[in-house]
Amino acid sequence: MNQGLHRLVYYSRNHLSDDSTSFTANVADILAKSRTNNTRDQITGALLFNAGCFAQVLEGPLENVEAAFERIQQDDRHGDVSLLALDPIESRSFPNWAMGFVGTSATDAARFAGIGASSGFDPSYLSGDQIHTLLRDLTIEEEAAV
Ligand code: FAD
Repeated sequence: MNQGLHRLVYYSRNHLSDDSTSFTANVADILAKSRTNNTRDQITGALLFNAGCFAQVLEGPLENVEAAFERIQQDDRHGDVSLLALDPIESRSFPNWAMGFVGTSATDAARFAGIGASSGFDPSYLSGDQIHTLLRDLTIEEEAAV
């Protein structure tokens, strides 16, 4: 058992421009910084973007996860950051992902829409468990496709 290993799940409202070139560049910046910091901090996880929202899972030592979430909450590239879950875990769901990004492909979008349909596409109606399971399934599929 990994003492102190925790999983945090949140969602937020995207404040990035709708312009797809600028959105892609902004997400690339966020991912590059996330992967550098998360590798340093022993954090793994995945980030999903869809319908104007981000949803993210962070897993790692509690202190590091909390410090990353503090920085993330203060980032004005998104807002209305809502914590859904922060729980101790025995093992990681994303051991190979310093920060995976899913949701851009048509297949991923359709999957998220399927879950979102019952919630009016609003992740505020999704639980931390639902978001965690969705992101885990999508990253497993991406790993299988590589
Ligand atoms: P620096 O990169 O040196 O940044 C200093 C300050 O400038 C920070 O306040 C930063 O927020 C701000 N900043 C930097 N670039 C921009 C920009 N282009 N536009 C606006 N403000 C900017 N960070 C992680 O470490 N791990 C994650 O998993 C992670 N996930 C994220 C998910 C989302 C949806 C978003 C929006 C951000 C995420 N970030 C993540 C980034 C995080 O919010 C901080 O920007 C980052 O952790 C700060 O890193 P740093 O302390 O090295 O500071």
